[in-house]
Amino acid sequence: MATISQKILSRAARLSHTAEPGEIVEARVDYAMSHDGTSVLAIKAFREMGSESVWDPQRIVVPFDHIVPANNETAATLQKEVRGFVKEQGITNFFDCGYGVCHQVFCEEGFALPGSLVIGADSHSCTYGAFGAFGTGVGATDMAEIYSRGRLWLKVPETLNIEIEGKLRPLVTAKDVALMVIGDLGADGATYRAIEYTGPAVEDMSMSGRMTLCNLGVEMGAKAAIVPPDQKTREYLQGCAREQYQHVVSDPDSGECQRVYDVSDLGPMVAYPFRVDNVKPVSELEGTEIDQVFVGTCTNGRLEDLEMVAKILKGQTVKARTLIIPASRQVLLQALSRGLIDILVSAGAMVAPPGCGPCLGAHMGVLGEGEACVSTSNRNFPGRMGRGGRVYLASPATAAASALKGYISSACI
Ligand code: SF4
Repeated sequence: MATISQKILSRAARLSHTAEPGEIVEARVDYAMSHDGTSVLAIKAFREMGSESVWDPQRIVVPFDHIVPANNETAATLQKEVRGFVKEQGITNFFDCGYGVCHQVFCEEGFALPGSLVIGADSHSCTYGAFGAFGTGVGATDMAEIYSRGRLWLKVPETLNIEIEGKLRPLVTAKDVALMVIGDLGADGATYRAIEYTGPAVEDMSMSGRMTLCNLGVEMGAKAAIVPPDQKTREYLQGCAREQYQHVVSDPDSGECQRVYDVSDLGPMVAYPFRVDNVKPVSELEGTEIDQVFVGTCTNGRLEDLEMVAKILKGQTVKARTLIIPASRQVLLQALSRGLIDILVSAGAMVAPPGCGPCLGAHMGVLGEGEACVSTSNRNFPGRMGRGGRVYLASPATAAASALKGYISSACI
């Protein structure tokens, strides 16, 4: 009996047996990712290690997203240094300012493949589990080791099976499901475990919804969050997969423990400041005044998110300052061709170029002291979007409804 994670890590470590949870393996990485922020540190560590050339320039992916376009001379100079490294090392998969948020670009470009081991120098690399990959985040020094040798030691995690039963009501989304699970299990509820999401509600989710679900896995401390690949995965990857892949699934009854949730009656959820596991139904926070609404990020800046927001805002005018940042150029172009940007701008929203934007409190749309924001992002820690700001995490539907009212509100009647 073996789980997806055991099978992927055993294959990546070239083992002749199936690795057991708790076993340490030295795994070969299929693709590695570092963005403008973490590449700087990884390059420094790579040089300090005395390394001269990367293990495989075609398996390193470098998207610029955290501070794009650069907001000051320091950021611009650091980005210039990373471009220099990319050129020096012949790294082929470089995505400069404008392509979009690293995790979105990584998936759109077909690097997150079923059965693969993909490591990112960013904690939300668990997003790649939406494709049946083992995706996890590491720090810059680990990334320097991967740059150098393409390998990393990992402890094989236990698997936490989370079954999501039932059918979601209209305007209740994968974000609400993820927040509900985090609220129940807590911020340390899946520490160093691989979550495997199954059940009819997960099967019903689009690939975009599954990416949202897996993206938030790390907010429970998970090493990885995985959805078993299926026909939807295959269809998404048609035409963009970087190489051949095989679907890897868990054996029946594998995994260490099981949680079952029925989401048939679930309503919209909000995580209020300053913890992601401070989760309540929107109805309990209805009326909380806000200054800003932010729709975007690797959690909820995809086309279906923008479609939902446009549907709610169409023909109306926002009361709260509203910022919309498509997760990628591809999303922006699709939103433009479908008339969504027209609707959003006409409703009074600002639309900014693809990137992380204010999610990390560094750039565009940062909060002022004491300001409150409903955000579709994934973290609401103190100072996350600006010192003294208060971040309420919610779905795009809740964000849109709140933008119209000027206070936290639900789109569900
Ligand atoms: Fe990190 Fe936010 Fe960028 Fe996602 S959008 S990679 S959470 S900074």
